[in-house]
Amino acid sequence: MNIHEYQAKELLKTYGVPVPLGGVAYSDKQAANVAEEISGDRWVVKAQIHAGGRGKAGGVRLAHSIGEVRQAADNMLGRRLVTHQTGPGGSLVQRIWIEQASDIAKEYYLGFVIDRGSQRITMIASSEGGMDIEEVNRTHPEKVIKETVDPAIGLRDFQCRKVAAAMGLRGKLMPQAVKIMKAIYRCIRDKDALLAEINPLAVNKNDQLVALDAKITFDDNALYRQHQINEMRDFDEEDPKEVEASGHGLNYIALDGSIGCIVNGAGLAMATMDAITLHGGRPANFLDVGGGASPEKVTNACRIVLQDPNVKAILVNIFAGINRCDWIAKGLIQAMESLNITAPMVVRLAGTNVEAGRELLESSGLSFITAQNLDDAAAKAVAAAQG
Ligand code: GDP
Ligand code: MN
Repeated sequence: MNIHEYQAKELLKTYGVPVPLGGVAYSDKQAANVAEEISGDRWVVKAQIHAGGRGKAGGVRLAHSIGEVRQAADNMLGRRLVTHQTGPGGSLVQRIWIEQASDIAKEYYLGFVIDRGSQRITMIASSEGGMDIEEVNRTHPEKVIKETVDPAIGLRDFQCRKVAAAMGLRGKLMPQAVKIMKAIYRCIRDKDALLAEINPLAVNKNDQLVALDAKITFDDNALYRQHQINEMRDFDEEDPKEVEASGHGLNYIALDGSIGCIVNGAGLAMATMDAITLHGGRPANFLDVGGGASPEKVTNACRIVLQDPNVKAILVNIFAGINRCDWIAKGLIQAMESLNITAPMVVRLAGTNVEAGRELLESSGLSFITAQNLDDAAAKAVAAAQG
């Protein structure tokens, strides 16, 4: 799960990371109020969407008066902002963050990420801030500094000093950098984050390090014990079908083809999508009903998959271990009857109670297209989607 920049800044501030004074606003009038409240003579107005690249796309504006703050707010709110991270449709701007502008002397990059290779939290830093770290890594890999943290002892001061020195932070900036690094590390540990990124971490004209941008991604599997983080979830930033699916204990992933896939287990989902592709089709999505799916769960799965207008055919591929094919069949029959499904539905069942499941489908009198195995099912689904 991702949160907005302003939420990340407010959270990091509680750990001792210096951030500019600011406030969130939902209207141009409120934006003007916030600017007056935080005072100063220059402000930065920033669109709050779950994507970076806002600076180049007009989502970060400098304002020299309250009137300019209001104008910038009015230009951003209610519009879709397209950045290189949003995709061509962009993201709707519904909140903005107004903060006191900083006089930037230099921009750095500082991030923490869980490195899957070493299975450890790794600090990543660079003297080249403000731009994509991936780009810096491609063009100047020697300017990307990495430091792995041993979970048994935590992040040590000497590690922070080593990284800060490699970034070129000297004198008064060194102890500030150490404090910021340790603060972000504590936050990532406490809150079960997968990534925390400050880009840019800026040095201002008063020789102070300050976080001008912040991005934090949290581990979805830990949200059950992170109530404060859960509160920050912005459903408007997520695919509504994925939100609904997760509410029913289903995993839904949107793709761009024409065949909706209802499967159990991620491995079977991969195999199903491979088989579809092999037969010349493309999956529109996949929905994993998991183990022990009740008829209701299967009906919900059909409804969610059909919300995608690109779905021309549905492929149900269930290998029942904990699941029961008769329950799956009951759910499919319920869905066919209650949802008035017109798209062709190809069903391949195997495993527990498979005979009972097939019998239910056959005696229902509904137009299921049954398949003997995965290959047969994929071929039939591709043909049905084209027909
Ligand atoms: P992003 O493009 O979505 O990553 O948004 P950022 O928050 O990183 O802002 C983009 C750029 O705007 C930064 O790299 C800075 O160069 C600039 N910027 C952000 N805040 C300030 C500020 O307070 N003062 C000045 N002068 N520039 C700023
Ligand atoms: Mn940034």
